[in-house]
Amino acid sequence: MSSLILALDFGGTKLSAAVTADSQTWLAHERHFSQPGATAVDDFRQMLTLAHKLLNGRSPQAVGVSFGGPVDFERGLVRLSHHVPGWENTPLRDWLTAEFNAPVWVDNDANVAALGEWRYGAGQGVDDLLYVTVSTGVGGGWVLNGRIWRGHEGMAGEIGHTVVAPDGPLCLCGKRGCVERMASGPYMAQDLAAAWGEEKRPFTKPVTGKRVAAEAAGGDPTAQRILLRGANALGLGLGNATNLINPARIILGGGVTKAGDLWWEELRRTVRATILPEVSVSLHPAQLGDDAPLWGAVALITAV
Ligand SMILES: [Zn+2]
Repeated sequence: MSSLILALDFGGTKLSAAVTADSQTWLAHERHFSQPGATAVDDFRQMLTLAHKLLNGRSPQAVGVSFGGPVDFERGLVRLSHHVPGWENTPLRDWLTAEFNAPVWVDNDANVAALGEWRYGAGQGVDDLLYVTVSTGVGGGWVLNGRIWRGHEGMAGEIGHTVVAPDGPLCLCGKRGCVERMASGPYMAQDLAAAWGEEKRPFTKPVTGKRVAAEAAGGDPTAQRILLRGANALGLGLGNATNLINPARIILGGGVTKAGDLWWEELRRTVRATILPEVSVSLHPAQLGDDAPLWGAVALITAV
């Protein structure tokens, strides 16, 4: 019987697949951009083509899947994608079971990445952790007692839409002062562009999250203020979550975590100032990078 595990990652703009026999190294691994304007069916077909290419005629013993959007884990159902149309209430687990004639597990990318970092990355050696990705959005996943904690409706880990400034700016979710509204790359970029516009400062290149960090590192006071406000908002959210659940570690991934020492120092300072004196937690950069969902998909199978 085959001992191959197939790991699939349906990201917002990228489709990744990998095959492993020992859960330590990839036998084959590829990442592709999904086609512009692709629908759920297009992405599913492109992923199958990629998977069969990597399997090269072999059959997987099991399939683990990371999906970039809310998932009903028990039913193996994708609820929707925020990036790709047509995923609403899709029985992805059943589709893949029929295709590969093997057991399949599907969960959302934040939960899967949390499990991946716990098993193979920066979360090794502890029982309880919060994984948070800070990039175009702010998402999170819990591993508690060595298992993913999904919550009543599979929505646990939404640290990005916890409110840290009720009188703050309006978030896409309709509330004010969410962590994501202040700490995500696109929102920090939007706020910097607006502030520069108000100061009548000429700027030619579009402002991105990466540029906010670069300008802050270069000494621009407005960029520093916005970057530090983001770190402070995230630190408040993480500190509150730590007081509530008491994880041993918080693992942070995503592009904004590359913003440099200024950002990390403010984040750590705010977390320390927010948690109770009796509470301790350590903050670590994620180790698995873009492969966290794929390794987490492997861990999803071996955790069962
Ligand atoms: Zn929000």
